[in-house]
Amino acid sequence: MGFDDSGDVTSLVGLVGFVVRAQVHDGEQWWLAVETVAEVVGCEACGARAVGHGRRRVKVRDLPVAGEPVTLVWAKRIWRCADVDCAVKTWSEFSEEIAGRAVLTERARAEIARRVGPGEESVAGVARSFGVAWSTAMEAVRDHGRPRVDHLSRLGAPRAIGLDETSWLAATATHPTLLVTGIVDLDRGQLIDVIPARSATAVEEWLDAKPTRWSAGIQHAVIDPYQPYATALANKVPNAKLVVDHFHVIRLANSALDDIRRRVQHDTLGHRGRKGDPLYRIRRRLLMGHERLSADGFERVLMWLERGDPDGEVAIGYLAKEHLRAVYDAKTVFDARRRLIEFYEVCDHAEVVELTRLAKTIRRWQTPLLRWHTTKLTNAGVEGTNLIIKNIKRLGFGFTNFENYRLRLLLRCGTTWQTRAAPSIRARQPSLVA
Ligand SMILES: [Zn+2]
Repeated sequence: MGFDDSGDVTSLVGLVGFVVRAQVHDGEQWWLAVETVAEVVGCEACGARAVGHGRRRVKVRDLPVAGEPVTLVWAKRIWRCADVDCAVKTWSEFSEEIAGRAVLTERARAEIARRVGPGEESVAGVARSFGVAWSTAMEAVRDHGRPRVDHLSRLGAPRAIGLDETSWLAATATHPTLLVTGIVDLDRGQLIDVIPARSATAVEEWLDAKPTRWSAGIQHAVIDPYQPYATALANKVPNAKLVVDHFHVIRLANSALDDIRRRVQHDTLGHRGRKGDPLYRIRRRLLMGHERLSADGFERVLMWLERGDPDGEVAIGYLAKEHLRAVYDAKTVFDARRRLIEFYEVCDHAEVVELTRLAKTIRRWQTPLLRWHTTKLTNAGVEGTNLIIKNIKRLGFGFTNFENYRLRLLLRCGTTWQTRAAPSIRARQPSLVA
């Protein structure tokens, strides 16, 4: 392939120290013949002036231009020390923009990291558009992403953090369902980290690795009603007050109600719920907020309960769930506490094993539960936690790739990504006014 070498030299926009000697489009991509402008170079060992010793051409992919791939053909200089006695014989020139043996310029690698990170494109797709291997693109994401993710400034200075457990990978023949803990900054609504475990030890180790000043600034921590989280926080950030996440409290009531329904279903009909079974018909309606049911819908609930719930156990479970939900409608913490007592009364008088257990759990978490009324803190609506869920569904990561997964997640929603502003055309126009 020959370049149309007109002899003109233009600087290569954005790559300091490089000039374009020639350019050609082969129908598929641009080829730019580039070289550095370095003329006077000293030997690193003795300082003697270096003399040219030929050139070696290397090809690297650069940023696309107007959507078309660009390959730079860099005529790399080989220098030789002029002093024949010097131990250093020859060396080739070096550029921060193009690493030795690289197939991509650094700015192209940074762009790959941006497109995979905040751009949320797949590694495979970006690799394809740059014409490089998946592993090459992923390496660029790691090299340019990790410093951002590891940077201490990313931790911020939250006064409230949230810990949220999410299933990451479904169980297979070789491992059980794998759970991860997402840690979010509730002040900024940003994901801080993901840990591939949900044990007290894992959270404690994570907290231990943080600067003391950072931990000391945390005043509130919102958690699932999950003892290991409470233990870890009590041990490592004892001054932080716990708040139990609203959503998870309601979920406890819903799952108790579901358990009752399944048990009664089995006790009365001797099999798991099937289409047409009274309780099976209303399984979703039972879990809906009462205010969302139409009069007609509630009528149906009552009708099927009459047929499928001989001892009124599902009905009392529904009532208990609604009482617990009502706690969150209270305007003051005093009213919330009063409503909670009503909930306990319903559970205590029901003599339904699932409700006894539920009331016991809620009593244990009562103080951090009622703290919602004074703080209004919740993990719901934090982009990071929602993204974990979304990503699990969309991407099939293997366990060995947890670090890649964490990196992608944090680049997407745990970092602020400042893109280098493109130089404006106006700024590059020569001034016409003297
Ligand atoms: Zn030398």
